Amino acid sequence: MLAPDEVLVRALSNRHLELTLMPTEACNFRCTYCYEDFALGRMSPGVVRGIKNLMTARAPGLDSLSVAWFGGEPLLALDVVRDVHEHVRALTRTHPSLIAQASMTTNAWKLDAAVFDELVGLGVDEYQISFDGPEEMHDRKRKRMDGKGTFARIWRNVLAMRNSPREFHVILRIHVDSENLESLFGFVDRIKAEFGTDRRFSIFLKKLMRYGGANDGELPILRTEEDARRFDDLQRHAHGDTEPEHVRGAGGTSSPRICYAAKGNSHVVRSDGRLCKCTVALDHPANTVGRLHEDGTVEIDGSRARPWMRGIFSGITAELLCPLVGLDDALAGDRKSA
Ligand code: SF4
Repeated sequence: MLAPDEVLVRALSNRHLELTLMPTEACNFRCTYCYEDFALGRMSPGVVRGIKNLMTARAPGLDSLSVAWFGGEPLLALDVVRDVHEHVRALTRTHPSLIAQASMTTNAWKLDAAVFDELVGLGVDEYQISFDGPEEMHDRKRKRMDGKGTFARIWRNVLAMRNSPREFHVILRIHVDSENLESLFGFVDRIKAEFGTDRRFSIFLKKLMRYGGANDGELPILRTEEDARRFDDLQRHAHGDTEPEHVRGAGGTSSPRICYAAKGNSHVVRSDGRLCKCTVALDHPANTVGRLHEDGTVEIDGSRARPWMRGIFSGITAELLCPLVGLDDALAGDRKSA
């Protein structure tokens, strides 16, 4: 674990590069709480070339390259994932000191045993896969475009991963709301029975949040004191008295003390080549801070990126953990001082 100062220095260092890549912003699911608008589809070949050219240009000066696949549903563009990771593999052969790491946030519909094996072989060895509870709860919310349920196939795919001899880590992210909360005690038991002794799987309980989706007003988020008490009970049921490990909200891994959006060396590449800071507030007017060009050069507007990185300079924990909180105030302050 890095000391706090080292975390901040690393967040600005050009020896490290973190890319959250959205190979498509389309999705085959329509989860009731989703905040994405699916307006952009597949990443164009020019943007994929831009990513590979950027990696090639930066590789000689890097100690680490971290790729987090996000979407939409990234496995709808498996060919893009494959293409980029074959490139990363070639770069690590040319630059043996370069440490490459990759994760994927996926709905796991297409993550069958063969695809999983191929991806882990390519170096994508950390996964975040969501459930909304046991089948009857999950299928009410985590639905396909045609409204049908998704639990049975995702569960089958996750169970199949246990048979892999490979090293990987899967975070089973469970959304908790006031409707499914009580059913989750039994669901956690089921997960423990299936995966309890396999350290490659872990449980992450996530309170359902309103992130700006069309159904936000109707989401049964936890709100009462009793909800809060039962959520704590559920945490203890899942993890005992051990503090659960920090898990990044979306798009891959990050330090417990600093969100990827607060770092100077972390970029989200949208499927149209726009560079953003945050995968939650995708359409926030201040989120787009630049553009990736096909030749691998990046154009970043410092005045747009700085408010996201303010925690690095202020040292304020809240601004490091989630710079989106209070961003509008920071922008207003910037405008006043400009
Ligand atoms: S799988 Fe993810 S991106 Fe797709 S609809 Fe559900 S929450 Fe949205």
